[in-house]
Amino acid sequence: MHVRTRMAPSPTGEYHIGSMRTLLYNYAFAKKNGGEFILRIEDTDRERFVEGATERLIQVIKDYGLNWDEGPDNGGPHAPYVQSERLELYKKQAEELVRKGNAYYCFCSKERLDSLREEQRNKGYPSTKYDKHCLALTGDEVQKNLKSGKPYVIRLNVPADQEVSFEDIVLGNIKFSTNDIDDQVLLKSDGYPTYHLAVVVDDHEMEINYIMRGVEWLPSTPKHILLYNALGWDIPAYAHLPLLKEKGGTKKLSKRMGSIAAVDFLSEGYLPEALLNFLMFLGWNPGTEKELYTLEEFINDFSIERIQKTDLVSFDREKLFWYNGQYIRGTDVKVLWSRIKEWIQKYGENPGYEMEDDYSTKVLTLVQDRMRVLADFIPLTGYFYHEVTPDESILTSFAESSTRASEILKVFENEYGNLTDEKWVSSDLDKASHELIAGAGYKPKEAFMTLRVALTGETATPPIFDILALLGKQKSLSRIRYSIKLLEARS
Ligand code: GLU
Repeated sequence: MHVRTRMAPSPTGEYHIGSMRTLLYNYAFAKKNGGEFILRIEDTDRERFVEGATERLIQVIKDYGLNWDEGPDNGGPHAPYVQSERLELYKKQAEELVRKGNAYYCFCSKERLDSLREEQRNKGYPSTKYDKHCLALTGDEVQKNLKSGKPYVIRLNVPADQEVSFEDIVLGNIKFSTNDIDDQVLLKSDGYPTYHLAVVVDDHEMEINYIMRGVEWLPSTPKHILLYNALGWDIPAYAHLPLLKEKGGTKKLSKRMGSIAAVDFLSEGYLPEALLNFLMFLGWNPGTEKELYTLEEFINDFSIERIQKTDLVSFDREKLFWYNGQYIRGTDVKVLWSRIKEWIQKYGENPGYEMEDDYSTKVLTLVQDRMRVLADFIPLTGYFYHEVTPDESILTSFAESSTRASEILKVFENEYGNLTDEKWVSSDLDKASHELIAGAGYKPKEAFMTLRVALTGETATPPIFDILALLGKQKSLSRIRYSIKLLEARS
C-alpha cells in the first residue's frame, strides 16, 4: 500500500514537544515506506485560534530538521492544506450525511442545551448527552426554520445499541458502545465544521491511510469510524501513541518541571538532532542497546509494531541533557562553532564582545567537553574574550596568605616573562611551570589554582596551560600582574 500519513496541528498555542514526537513517528513511517507525509492546519476552532501560531509551528518543525511533502506553504495535489480555507467541502459532506439520515439539523437554543445538561447532571448521569430532540422535526419544520434564518448546527445521528470496534495497531482490538457516544455536532452555527467532521473529510480527501496520534484522541475514533461508514469511505489504520509524562510521576508534562513547547528546547540550546534522537525513544525502541540514532537510521529501523503499548512514557529530562552532551561532543568543532553562532543570533543575548571565528574555534576546543547545551558557551568562556577582575577572596583562598599568593604569582610572572614565543605552547608551559613550582617549594594545587583564578577569575576551567597558550604571553602576563597589584594593595 502506498503510505500517506499526516500531522494535523491546531494553531492554538506553541507547538508541544509531545506533538513533535508524534509528528516524527508519522514522518518516519511515511518515509520508511516511500510514501508521503502531509502537514495540515486544523484551524476550525475559532475561539481557541491564536494569531501567528500557524507560522510559528511551521517554523519550529523546520527548525527541528523535519519537513513535509504537502502542506500549507508548499501546497500539493489536495491544496489548500488549511481547514478554514476548505469550508465548502465540510458543509457539502454534512448535508450529504443529513440526506442519508446519518445526521440532522438541530435548532436547540443554548438555554435548552444548558438546562438539558443540568437536568442530566442532577440525575447523576456519568456524562451528558443530547436528547435527539430535533431529530423528531418534520422535513417541513426543518425547511421553515432554515428559511426563517434560525441558527442551527448539524449533528451526527448516533444509532443506539451498536458496537463500534476497530483494530488499533498499537493497542489491539478496541470496542465502544454507541450508547456512550453523544450526537456530536458536526457543523457549527458559524458554518465551521467541528474537528470530528473536518478531520474525517480531510483524511479521506487527502488519501491518508495511516493515522498515528496521541492516545488522548482514542475516544474520538469511534465517532470518526461512524462517519467513515456513513459516508461509505475506507477506514484508515489507527495507531494511538502513549502520552508523555514527567519522569517518576504519572502527571503529564508540566511547565514547573521545565519546557514543554518545542521551541523552548531550541532556545535553551538543545541541538535538533539530539532532540529528535531523544523523541525517537519516547514510545518506541529498537529492541537493541543502540541509543544514538540519526534521522535516517531511525527511518530505517522504525516500525509501528515496536511502539510501546502503555498509556504513558517517561519524559526523562536528564536523558535529554545526556543526549545533547553526546551530540555536542560528537560534532566537529568548526560545525559546532557555526551552530553556536547561529544560536546566539537567534536565541541568545549578544555578549557585547567580538567573537572572531578562528580564535573562538580554539576556545571551543577547550570547552566542548564541558558543554551540555549551546547556551553554555558564553558563560563558560567569557574570560577568553574580556579582561577579568578576580574576586580577592577567591584569589587568596588557595595559598595560606595573600602574601604567599602574590609571591606565587610573581614567580610565574618572572618565569613566563623569560619564555620565548616558541616555548609559549601548552606542553612547554606545563613542563616549565611544574619544574618551577617544585623548585620554589610550592604545592601544585595552591600554585596552579592561584594562577587559574588570576587568569580567569574562575576556579573550574579547562587545563590551565591550554588557557595560557591560547590567551598568549602578553595577555597572560598582564592578568598575572593585575592580580599581583590587587594583592599588594591589600597587604
Ligand atoms: N487537530 C488535532 C490536534 O490538534 C488533530 C488530532 C488528530 O491527529 O486527529 O491534534
